[in-house]
Amino acid sequence: MKIGIDVPVVPVIVFTDPKTWIATPTQEVDVFRLSGLRSKVSRLFEQYPAALGEELLDYVKEHFIACYQKLVLKRIYPKVSVLKGVVCIGCRVQMRHERKGFRCMQCGTKTMNGIYEALHDYRLLYNDWITNQEFRDFLGVESIYTASRMLSKLGIDYMGNFKNRKYVIPPNILEMASKKGN
Ligand SMILES: [Zn+2]
Repeated sequence: MKIGIDVPVVPVIVFTDPKTWIATPTQEVDVFRLSGLRSKVSRLFEQYPAALGEELLDYVKEHFIACYQKLVLKRIYPKVSVLKGVVCIGCRVQMRHERKGFRCMQCGTKTMNGIYEALHDYRLLYNDWITNQEFRDFLGVESIYTASRMLSKLGIDYMGNFKNRKYVIPPNILEMASKKGN
């Protein structure tokens, strides 16, 4: 529907989860965390001071509200590289999987429960479920058997038989970490 108004449309990608680290922001579209939204909007107001007067703004707002309908959102795959797997909080690099947990190759920090945060990130970025192969790719685990053992240890639901098994990442995956107490 046309309403006959010229307004600048500025696409941005905003990560609402503060734990997401953006390794290489893309040049094509601004990518930032929620904390950066306020200053982005301020800059836009400076950049387009005369774009919309208050009256027009009200009109557009009412129009958008009238047009509102619940959309089934499709997942988008932005062309940015997001740090994968278990990330060292201090160094912001991917930690390497070892026999017992994960280790940061820069500072030597070890962690056991980074797996919950990694799966939480995976769920937000890609999908509610993960296969053994995807798990290995994302967390940098080499062995299919190790990955399978790690996944079944989590005690999360799965669908399908061994070969095509999909593990369902629950929305409360982070709370599971504290329940396990490790
Ligand atoms: Zn580190």
